[in-house]
Amino acid sequence: MYSFTAPFVNPTGSPIRELFKYLGEPGMISFAGGYPAADLFDVEGLQCATERAWSAPTKCLQYGPTDGVPELKEEIVALMRRRGAACSSAELVVTTGSQQSFDLLLRVLVAPGDTVLTEQPAYPATVQALLLQQADVVTVPVDAHGIDTDRLAALLNSGTVRAPKLLYTVPTFANPTGATLTLARRLALLELAVKHRFVIVEDEPYAELRFCGEAVPSLLALSEQVPTSRNWLVYFGSLSKVIAPGLRVGWTVAPIEIARRCTVAKQTVDLCSSPFTQAIAAAYLAQGSLDSHLPRIVAAYRDKCETLCDEMDRILDGAIEFHRPQGGMFVWGRCKTGSSSTLLTQAIAQKVLFVPGRAFYADDADDSTMRMSFTAPTTADIKEGVQRLSTAMERSFS
Ligand code: PMP
Repeated sequence: MYSFTAPFVNPTGSPIRELFKYLGEPGMISFAGGYPAADLFDVEGLQCATERAWSAPTKCLQYGPTDGVPELKEEIVALMRRRGAACSSAELVVTTGSQQSFDLLLRVLVAPGDTVLTEQPAYPATVQALLLQQADVVTVPVDAHGIDTDRLAALLNSGTVRAPKLLYTVPTFANPTGATLTLARRLALLELAVKHRFVIVEDEPYAELRFCGEAVPSLLALSEQVPTSRNWLVYFGSLSKVIAPGLRVGWTVAPIEIARRCTVAKQTVDLCSSPFTQAIAAAYLAQGSLDSHLPRIVAAYRDKCETLCDEMDRILDGAIEFHRPQGGMFVWGRCKTGSSSTLLTQAIAQKVLFVPGRAFYADDADDSTMRMSFTAPTTADIKEGVQRLSTAMERSFS
């Protein structure tokens, strides 16, 4: 009856959000969504920040500047400096979560039919956004050390793909693989962007959640070492995983020519991100709560990650292969006995959820893979969840 635009004639929704209908079932243990642990939200610190924000209620209640309220921009500039990647206020656009950062960037840079490279497996909302933008999505494989830059170089030199506009990557504690891109590959990626003139999108919501190992500088920080690479780099930050996703505060750091255009795009999307939650975020950062509270979150996630990996080793006896991540929220596994989609049906019956890996592939899905998030369940539930997974495996494959 309606004449929908091409990408909305038959759109598919998020495969992860599809699973959320099971979350409400009594007794369900979920390794599915990338949800932070609710009991680790710094409610007291946020309440204090809210009171400070509310001391200037008019500012919270009025429309704000499209590129972000100045107090928050100042705090984010300081945060980026602490992360070793200094940026100016003009390069910074505050967004309603980094998901919006990506949407704005696509509006500015990607026309239907343009080639966009993405790591594979990848964060599905990215692929979804690219398909809705009618981009030509070309995938580059990821291994335990992040995006395979040799394969990328070979692809770019092969002449088989049209010159890409963008490359999307989560270089640190990737969603879904948990992998972290090595320093050498980071430098190689920056070199390739300069040589082939494409914009790297560095999506970095998880980097602060490191449990062990040496921190690796962001691509943005490393861009100083590769001449002109900063011109080919857009960085997305987010408070969702380190403070709370309900704030809906993220940001883009981009060359000024790009940042200015993202701001114009944002004018038609939502005029501005909520000045109220921006003021809360600014007060929270100004009172030093992120730095004081984050170690608690990291310690708890380290514990949960170890529990999940130890229990999988102990109970599943190698039936699911996985790498232990050094941080973030995800363990990526490969079910050696069969399809993870088949396993999910039995898992739901046993009241445990995970995301089948095919959700993270734009093409050639490997249906034996699966993503498990360890942050939201308690350690007791993680243990019980792995036990249930073991029962589900027996019922699925024996
Ligand atoms: N990028 C990645 C890689 C993510 O995993 C997520 C959330 N799951 C987002 C972006 C979206 O974050 P935000 O809440 O800032 O929109």
